[in-house]
This record gives sequence, structure tokens and C-alpha cells, in this order.
Amino acid sequence: MKNLLVMKFGGTSVGSAERMRAAARLSAEQRKKRPLVIVVSAMSGVTDLLLDATKHAEAGDPKGLAASIRKLDERHEQACRELLPRAAQKSARAGIHDLLGEFERISRGMLMLHDRPPRSVDEAIAVGERLSALLIAAFLNAEGTPAAAVNAAELIVTDAVFGNASPVMDQTASKSRARLFPLLEDGVLSVVTGFNGATANGRPTTLGRGGSDFSASILAAALEAAELWIWTDVDGIMTADPRLVPDAAVLPEVTYREAAELAYNGAKVLHPRTLAPLMDLAVPVWSKNSFAPEKPGTKIVSTLSTPGGARAVTSLAKVALVSLEPASAELTGVQIMARALDALARANVEVLVFSSSSYRQNFCFLVRSEELSKTTEVLESALALELAHGYLRPIDVDQDVGLLAVVGEGMRGSPGLAGRVFTAISRASINIIAIAQGSSELTIAIVVRRDGLEAAVRAVHAECAMGKPPSARSRARRG
Ligand code: ADP
Ligand code: ASP
Ligand code: MG
Repeated sequence: MKNLLVMKFGGTSVGSAERMRAAARLSAEQRKKRPLVIVVSAMSGVTDLLLDATKHAEAGDPKGLAASIRKLDERHEQACRELLPRAAQKSARAGIHDLLGEFERISRGMLMLHDRPPRSVDEAIAVGERLSALLIAAFLNAEGTPAAAVNAAELIVTDAVFGNASPVMDQTASKSRARLFPLLEDGVLSVVTGFNGATANGRPTTLGRGGSDFSASILAAALEAAELWIWTDVDGIMTADPRLVPDAAVLPEVTYREAAELAYNGAKVLHPRTLAPLMDLAVPVWSKNSFAPEKPGTKIVSTLSTPGGARAVTSLAKVALVSLEPASAELTGVQIMARALDALARANVEVLVFSSSSYRQNFCFLVRSEELSKTTEVLESALALELAHGYLRPIDVDQDVGLLAVVGEGMRGSPGLAGRVFTAISRASINIIAIAQGSSELTIAIVVRRDGLEAAVRAVHAECAMGKPPSARSRARRG
């Protein structure tokens, strides 16, 4: 399909009847110009509400479960009332009722079992995206744009890692083409659910929190789209999270590698795995503001047309630093590293930063807080004998830390940059605990005390004049 555009609308971009109307109008406008498929998130806050409901079920709390379902019902009923003409409301309301009925059936199962099996959670929480796709498709139809809500469980084939599934691309390509191309040929706009998929034998899965971005890139790759536009609630990818740094500026262009590093190190504006399916295909991706669609946004490209340098700073607060240190000469640090990393790999733990130094052969690594208990469990079991015989000091865990990452193509060409970054952090009286810089020099990762994290982000942003135009940046470097 030539010139196909895939557009994705995030939670705030479909968070109310008014926002759904804006999203639908942006879609109708593009559809007049070129073939279009859209991917939608659940209304903002809905996935959290669905998860809360399943937690009430697991805790054996039927009242809490019923209260959450009532909130979900009210939110979507209100959107339905405010969005749709009266004639279209009846069937949309029946659709909402059916989907919430499906959710309630799964949750009641959890209530009975006092358990929340991951595969049932995935089936249950995908209902959020199915509800918003239903409402948006109904509105488009009512406005005269033929549209169909499509459940991505019919399109995206994944592995069985519930809660964080990965796509099987060749099967996804054949399924999504078989389902979506006929709709495109008939002039029907597909409104596909973000966030979810299913295994080859049909078990529902989800792609991880914030995963609708990833859904859209998977579909863009599978359908060989010409472009992907990701509509969100800020003007594009910025030099820092604007909630932390008020003078953060929009970056007109970032490379796939920069965007991937930023997302991986905490920039919520993109799901970390979004760009992987598109990088090799070099499909251009735009990050745009659905609240200000006239603004240009950020273009994600293979190479920059402007000079690089330290371009953005990002942070992750919910992390923990784990340190290991041999206690005798019987074992070398390298042997312990090998055993530890092997255990972490088998348990699927993601290591965000790894740093090793010193004659004592100790090393430390950073993991997400939510993976900490799994991490210590697998390390204690893999190294049980070494710990018991005193070859290894007790595993040390520091949860009072945060990760800051400075990202930019061409940092290699900026001598003295790392020094300036460290000085800026120290000047703000923030303790640096560990440092890692990969050989690509695309990212400098710095672990600092948790209570200094936000101040460190602001200090680095100011020191590197990230919110300023490039001419001011070079002045700041010289000064
Ligand atoms: P959506 O619901 O559209 O997917 P998200 O809330 O997931 O939106 O992501 C958008 C948010 O990401 C912004 O509101 C912003 O606060 C946050 N954010 C964090 N880092 C950055 C950054 N570097 N650039 C832009 N936004 C960022
Ligand atoms: N609704 C899902 C979430 O909140 C996916 C997304 O919004 O991207 O995590
Ligand atoms: Mg998001």
C-alpha cells in the first residue's frame, strides 16, 4: 500500500469526548489525503483503573471491584453521551456494556481464586483500549467517515511473555495485512487498539505499560507504512521532561538511536521499544502534540542535519543499585560477574547500568525497582555456595538512588563534556554514586542520590544550555 500513514493517539489525546473528537477530526483530515490506519490508547487513567480493579479482585474485595467497575462505566458512558449523536448512542452503550461485562467476568474469576494470573490480567486490561476504539470508531462513522474498531489481538502475534510481550513480526505482517488491507481498499478507517496482542494460539497479551507506541510501530513495520505519527500531549521530544525542567525545549529532529536511548532511560514520551521495528526500515516517525497540531513536532530520522552534542537529559527514579564484591582471592570478580549476569539473563532482568572498577574487583549494576526482588532472589540462589562459604560479601542493595542520562549523537566530538556534566552535578551538592559511558558515547549514565535527582537533571540541562539554540550552546561551552 503506497504512502500509508499510521497515526497513534495516546491516553490524553483520547482522554475525554472533546479529545476523541479532536483525534477523530485529525484522522478524517489525513484520511482524505492518503491511506491511513490509526492506533488508540485507552482513555487516560483507564489502564490504572482496570489494574486497580483486578487488585481488588485478588484481595477478595468485591465492593472495591464493583466501585472500580462503576467508575469505568461512568467514564465511558459520559464520553459516549457527550461524543455521539443520540441515534448512535444505543449501540455504543451496548458495546461498552459487553466489554465491561467481559472485564467483570475475568475479574470475578480472580476474586474466586484470590489470584491475578498474568495471562488473565492481560486479557482484562486490554479492555481499556477496546473501549476507546469502539467510541472513536462510532464517532467517525457518525461523522460520515466509515470506520471499524479492530482488536489488535487479531493482528499482532506475540510471544507468551504476559505483561511485556514481544512481537513475532512475520506472522504479525501476514495477519495484519490480511485483515487491514481489505478495509483500506473499501475505504474503511481501521481504529486499532494499542497495547495488546495475542500469542499464535490466541492467548491475549500486552506489550508493557505505555505499549501503544510500540503497537503503532509494529503495525507501521508490518504494513510497510511510509510514516508513523505519534500524537501526544507535548510538542514533541524535548531536551528534558517539561514537568521537571520548565525551560525544556522541543528538539526538531532526533535520531532513532537518540530517541531509543532517551526512552530507555526514562523519557516517557516514547515506549522504549517503539523504534526497534522501524530503525532498519528507516520509516520516519513524528512525535506531535494533538493539543496543538499546527506545531511541527519532532522528526525521528537516521542522521541529523544539525550538529550533535549533549542534546537531552532524562531520568529514572524507581531504580535500585546492587553491588557485589568478592571476599577472598578464591574467586575473581570476573567469575562472579559471569555467574551473576548469567543468572540475571535467565530471569529476564534488565540491567540499566553496569559499572566495575577497583583492585577489590567489586562491581555494581542498576535495575528497575520492580525487578529488585526477582534480582536478589536469583542472585542469592545462583551464588548460594559462594555466599555461604564467605567467598562473596553479602549482596548490597541501595534503593535510595536515581538514574540520570545525558544523551546525544556526537558527544564524542565534544571534549570535556563529561567533566562539565559531573561538575554541574557536584556544584549542586549532589553525590555521584556510579558512572557508565558506553563505547558508542551516545549516553552518559550517572547514578546519583535519589533526593538530588531532579536538581541534577536541572543542573545538567542548564550547564549544557540544552533549552537554548545551538549558537548559544557553543557560547556556553566556550564561556
Ligand atoms: P501518551 O499518553 O500520549 O502516550 P505519555 O504520558 O506516555 O503520553 O508521554 C508524554 C509525557 O512524557 C509528557 O507529558 C511528558 O511529561 C513526558 N516526558 C518525559 N520526558 C520527556 C521528553 N524528553 N520529551 C517530551 N516529553 C517527555
Ligand atoms: N493504556 C496503556 C497504558 O496506560 C498503554 C498506553 O497508553 O500506551 O500503559
Ligand atoms: Mg505513552
